[in-house]
Amino acid sequence: MIRRLLIANRGEIAVRIARAAREAGIVPLGVYSDADAHAYHLGFMDDAARLGPAPARESYLDVERVLRAARELRADAVHPGYGFLSERAHFARAVTDAGLIFVGPTADAIEAMGDKTEAKRRAREHGVPVVPGYDGDDQSAERLEREAAGIGRPVLIKASAGGGGRGMRIVAGDTDFGEALAAAKREALAAFGDERVLLEKYLTRPRHIEFQIIADAQGNTVHLGERECSIQRRHQKVIEEAPSSALTPELRARMGEAAVRAARSVGYVNAGTVEFLLSEDGSFYFLEMNARLQVEHPVTELVHGVDLVRLQLDVANGLPLPFSGDDVATRGWAFEARINAEDPANDFLPAIGTISRWEPPGEPGLRLDAGVGAGSEVTIYYDSMLAKLIAYAPDRAAAIERLRAGLDAFRIDGVRTNLPLLRRIVRDDAFRSGDTTTAFLGERAAFLASPAGGEPGGAALLAIVAALADPRAWRIGRVGIPVVLDGVERTLRAVGSRTNGENAWHLEGDVAGDFVVETAGDRVTVRDERGERTGGRARVDAGGVEVLFDGATYRFDFAPPPSLETAGVERGPKGDGTVTAPMPGKIVSVAVKTGDTVAERDLLIVLEAMKMEHRIEAARGGTVKNVAVAAGALVAGGATLLDIE
Ligand code: ADP
Repeated sequence: MIRRLLIANRGEIAVRIARAAREAGIVPLGVYSDADAHAYHLGFMDDAARLGPAPARESYLDVERVLRAARELRADAVHPGYGFLSERAHFARAVTDAGLIFVGPTADAIEAMGDKTEAKRRAREHGVPVVPGYDGDDQSAERLEREAAGIGRPVLIKASAGGGGRGMRIVAGDTDFGEALAAAKREALAAFGDERVLLEKYLTRPRHIEFQIIADAQGNTVHLGERECSIQRRHQKVIEEAPSSALTPELRARMGEAAVRAARSVGYVNAGTVEFLLSEDGSFYFLEMNARLQVEHPVTELVHGVDLVRLQLDVANGLPLPFSGDDVATRGWAFEARINAEDPANDFLPAIGTISRWEPPGEPGLRLDAGVGAGSEVTIYYDSMLAKLIAYAPDRAAAIERLRAGLDAFRIDGVRTNLPLLRRIVRDDAFRSGDTTTAFLGERAAFLASPAGGEPGGAALLAIVAALADPRAWRIGRVGIPVVLDGVERTLRAVGSRTNGENAWHLEGDVAGDFVVETAGDRVTVRDERGERTGGRARVDAGGVEVLFDGATYRFDFAPPPSLETAGVERGPKGDGTVTAPMPGKIVSVAVKTGDTVAERDLLIVLEAMKMEHRIEAARGGTVKNVAVAAGALVAGGATLLDIE
């Protein structure tokens, strides 16, 4: 029986596993890289060992170092969590070879299912429908290009070893297939150490539906219903729910049966997930099987009343499942929102910083699985997910209201997050009516960028006066202080001067008039000339102002970092063609050299940050000068890369 469990992971999932272990009477043991020496997850461990330097390849992805930590901490079992080594068959094998219990499927099952190509072949052999495409062994560029032509546009290039939406490229319209293939292979190699790819027909407007599998060593394989994970950005899930509003009991039974068949085809043991795409005409296709615990497992836990990590530990201990497929029933509805350190307004670029304020909501029916707290550092080295807010209620509509209330009440300062986007999604009519497909974020961009009614005037007024009342504004000068705030709906420009005494302001611009302002903490009350009152809460942080007004939270940002497409070039005054790094990262390749002539939108540099490749394109045409970086260089955010004159 497991007594001491090494949790070979970090962040929220390390915390989640530690909690389940402790409840089961098992000692949770942690690991950390140098960047994580003071990380949040370590507070949940009884003991912890250093793995190595910050880069994952030298710490969380280093099998030898993880095994050494297990020995050092006298662990008798290892839980890999998700990501990192969770789907590396050689790791599972090394753990069992070292005489330890691996909390997960067998190495053979991971080998068969952890790889998209292999998994698709197996599923097809067992009569499970798969997305049409090419999953052959011939990986030559010529062959892939030919197969892609046969599939037709749009075609999807996927890393065989991929996960988390990385190493995936849609090739549509007249995009160059060769360039997309090279980029996908590079990303796959960097992220997974394996550059094999497969090709698939790219389905438009499918739903992502996945089934939770749990199987014991006695041969019982049960599915715990579905999760719908259609709300995605960059093929990465943002909001998930269970059950799905798209399934009839009949379709659920058919898909569930196919999922169980796929799992049985590899003699699957422990927790796993079979993913499908459900097309608009009701046909479904196997996508892949994730041979591990999923990020979104909590929604299943809430509607089934189970603890999946505890079940994983019990199964790893050789215990039979305490239920059979016939006992499984769902109750109520659950949603999960992933809170990421990123900037939705800027192509979801990951954000870094120190979390100066972390105040999660405490409403009933909410669960928070967090990997950070106040004071936590968010670095460039790992995934940008900070926490998951999970809401549970008797029905779908009530669960959405709980999630909305919780998202509105959440306060995070010090790092930019996707909270503003999440708050708008839960107000979106299509989302609320269950009209959810993987194209949702793209199709609803207009609404999401400009919620019905926009930001009310009251919120704008509070944001402006809060920015002016902030002591930092006074460093600029005492009269005519300009404030520029970017809301979702519009950019607010105003100039404020003090009139009579401390609290009286004269404003000109988008917000104009004479106002008397009172503040107490973050409560702000404003009265205009006629004595008309506007009250709410507003907090100024390094990035902007967050306003709570009339039942909703609004975010206004100070001048944002440049967008990817126009990186750097538009930053300086007109005529300044300096291109700077939009964020810290590593230069993957430099597509130009001094003296080259470029046109608008030409590729200049590929920057890798937080395991994603970002294209830096020319915002305007000109001649390239002063190339300051080469492939392999590490650059700071804002570093000068080159000039265009
Ligand atoms: P990963 O393992 O990186 O998460 P998946 O194969 O699970 O990759 O796919 C992730 C998401 O990408 C899916 O949920 C879906 O939105 C999109 N996707 C994958 N394959 C296709 C496809 N053939 N057509 C349309 N969308 C797809």
